[in-house]
Amino acid sequence: MAKSVLVINCGSSSIKYALISERREDRIYGLAENLGSADARIKGVTVGGEPLELSIPHADHAKALETLLARLANYNPQAIGHRVVHGGNLTKAELLTPEIVKRIEAATPLAPLHNPAHLVGIEATMRLFPELPQVAVFDTAFHQTMPEYAYRYALPQNLYTEHHVRRYGFHGTSHAYVTERASELAGAKNQGGWLSAHLGNGSSTCAVWNGQSIDTSMGMTPLEGVVMGTRSGDVDPSLHLFLASNLGWDIQKIDNMLNKESGLLGLSGLSNDMRTLVDASNDGHEGATLAIEVFCYRLAKSLSALSCGLPRLDGLVFTGGIGENSAYVREKTLGYLSHFGLQFSKEKNDALPRGTEGRIDAGQGPQIWVVPTDEEGRIAKETRQVVEQTVSA
Ligand code: AMP
Repeated sequence: MAKSVLVINCGSSSIKYALISERREDRIYGLAENLGSADARIKGVTVGGEPLELSIPHADHAKALETLLARLANYNPQAIGHRVVHGGNLTKAELLTPEIVKRIEAATPLAPLHNPAHLVGIEATMRLFPELPQVAVFDTAFHQTMPEYAYRYALPQNLYTEHHVRRYGFHGTSHAYVTERASELAGAKNQGGWLSAHLGNGSSTCAVWNGQSIDTSMGMTPLEGVVMGTRSGDVDPSLHLFLASNLGWDIQKIDNMLNKESGLLGLSGLSNDMRTLVDASNDGHEGATLAIEVFCYRLAKSLSALSCGLPRLDGLVFTGGIGENSAYVREKTLGYLSHFGLQFSKEKNDALPRGTEGRIDAGQGPQIWVVPTDEEGRIAKETRQVVEQTVSA
């Protein structure tokens, strides 16, 4: 695999990996899961498209990476790109140096679930492959172009100046990739105004003008914004006081409820999985029907709100497991947006094969696209760019 880049995404008990060749035509990918348990294993796909399953009992992150990297070393990766959720105020992908590692550590209070796991992966790959250039690609970086009036909360100034309390935004790699791709398909790459809806277990919306993020629905943490699989999205901030005073809940219980027991799961009382909910709704399940209604209405409301950051609306793009696969959710959401001139074609929307790229508008007004996201491909591209710039500097 010519000039491949290894992309690593370390979670708390899993590691997603992908080895991607220069032109993205070849790809080896998979997941090391259940790390730390007797059931730890690597599941993936080899270069020939064959399934791979490897048991690695009790392996931790370092051991799993060692096993993975030993298998992938034959392909001579040129560099390693790490997905890092929170980069604080870092505005672009960065070559990993002790200084950058310190800045990722410093952003840990803002992403306590994600950044520590990324740091474990970074430490392991730097130790195992000290000679390979390694790059951190941040979910937050794309949104560093937001104007101050979009990223500030209406809170006392010192919370921002002394404690970095502001809106950061996430899913930047995905919003950047799909809006670039959709605008390219529309014939004007990274030109004009685009709205993006990344809809998966985590969901967010973004407004992009000439290839730059102008505003996004997620905030200081990935809890703000639209309804998600188990996350509530926006609620009245006084809910915390209400639950503490009336139900005696502590802050940890409230946080857990908002992050893990809310969203589609909480509303439906059934599942966080959109497929299950659409099937159940078709069978008459009221909770599932309501959960889908709230999801689509709040999503349309968020897209409408973000559109005011754009001087002109040229298109809307759907992505993520739900955005790419659910014609039903797209139809329901677009039903609320016709006053913006967004006219979709029911035929094209229904006929678009799952997981493929395609245009679903009726031919007038802003274009509407479905683009499968490729966060790993984008991380590989940015990693390669950082390495090339460093070599030529
Ligand atoms: P992601 O986090 O991007 O992998 O997306 C996961 C979400 O995509 C889950 O809620 C799945 O139910 C949803 N999803 C995947 N396929 C479909 C489908 N065919 N119809 C509706 N939702 C789907």
